Amino acid sequence: NLTEKFEAVFKKLRGHGRLTEENIQEALREVRLVLLEADVNFRVVKDFVAAVRERAIGQDVLKSLTPAQQVIKIVREELARLMGEGEENDLDLAARPPVPVMLCGLQGAGKTTTCGKLALYLRRQKRNPLLVPADIYRPAAIEQLKTVGRQLGIEVFDSQPGEDPVRICEQAREYAALNGFDTLILDTAGRLHIDEELMGELVRIRDSLEPREILFVADAMTGQDAVTVADSFNQQLDVTGVILTKLDGDARGGAALSIRAVTGKPIKLVGLGEKMDALERFHPDRMAQRILGMGDVLTLIEKAQAAVEAEDAAKMEEQLRKEGFTLETFRDQLQTIKKMGSLESLLKLIPGAGKAMKQMQGMQLPDKELKKIEAIINSMTRQERRNHRLLNGSRRLRIARGSGTTVQDVNQLIKRFTEAQKMMKKMQKLGPKGLKGMMRG
Ligand code: GDP
Ligand code: MG
Repeated sequence: NLTEKFEAVFKKLRGHGRLTEENIQEALREVRLVLLEADVNFRVVKDFVAAVRERAIGQDVLKSLTPAQQVIKIVREELARLMGEGEENDLDLAARPPVPVMLCGLQGAGKTTTCGKLALYLRRQKRNPLLVPADIYRPAAIEQLKTVGRQLGIEVFDSQPGEDPVRICEQAREYAALNGFDTLILDTAGRLHIDEELMGELVRIRDSLEPREILFVADAMTGQDAVTVADSFNQQLDVTGVILTKLDGDARGGAALSIRAVTGKPIKLVGLGEKMDALERFHPDRMAQRILGMGDVLTLIEKAQAAVEAEDAAKMEEQLRKEGFTLETFRDQLQTIKKMGSLESLLKLIPGAGKAMKQMQGMQLPDKELKKIEAIINSMTRQERRNHRLLNGSRRLRIARGSGTTVQDVNQLIKRFTEAQKMMKKMQKLGPKGLKGMMRG
């Protein structure tokens, strides 16, 4: 995948003792191949590589203390720029209510789900949305939106299969105006492929309702197909933005890379799961970091900063680096992690940790459990904490007594710990400096 390929290129780049211009040229040739293989539009690739080259071949980069790091930073910044960094990508709902927002896209892209997510997202911003089912071809489609609405406690306009979608939308607008709804979310029909008849219908809805936002919903898993389709929807409907769904899957953003450049329209929101709250604003720079396998460092750091003093994080990092992952560091980290929020949500942000997470299921740590673990580890000697292999039967018995737990509890903890240790090793393999590199970005 894209991330692994980038990582290989950067690893090589870091591997050179001193960087020469030739090293950089070579890395850029590889970056170019990586992008072309990921099916990114060749014109986009060409401009991208030229922009990176121009900045990377400068004297300053080669003279800097960390030239490889500088080159990687440039690649990251240019990727972010490609995805719209620095440009406006807020939803624009500043119009006389009820403000129509139209979602369009192929069948299965995630329109209906995203309509629900968007309704919830807007309600959290104190808006009062009405969901409008304008996909009248499949009776199940209306039912699906109604189910979503019921689940969220958000009203769904009552339409019948077979009614004219343009009329449904017009009636919904009247209904909204009379009943105090300030936003209309239009769930339109999709087809498996681009289809003239469907486009005609969407154009008629657009012309009648004049939606403030026309959002093309793109399935990130379909890669560059999503880009091609986005391009033709945009040509016919002149969309105002893109919502990229299913970014929680393995797709690491190939589509995100060229959709902005090809359509000229910003990615505004991203879908990160099937649940209704899995919709977020799009941050080009964070996406660039994800693609480059640096994890969503900013999100991670934001979360960490909310709860943990920067010092704590630095200490944790330092301790890990010096002592490795032992029962002692494990205990300290459990406390830190507890402050940061759930282990799971943090792990999600770390590249490659998805698989490790599956192995961690059953490692949920409610407070009570955490206290027990701390008691057990506290009953160990410092030596034991630093080398769990010392823990034979009689030591385990002593620890169980000392901590008011049972030998089974102790055994289970050690088993969990060794699993976590394996996971840490895997994570550390990901970056050259493991957690340290991750925290620093
Ligand atoms: P529509 O045909 O465009 O209306 O697509 P649907 O809303 O019915 O979604 C198709 C499938 O994609 C459903 O199974 C959704 O649960 C799933 N889906 C939508 N958005 C996401 C997402 O962000 N992540 C994941 N994993 N699945 C999604
Ligand atoms: Mg649908």
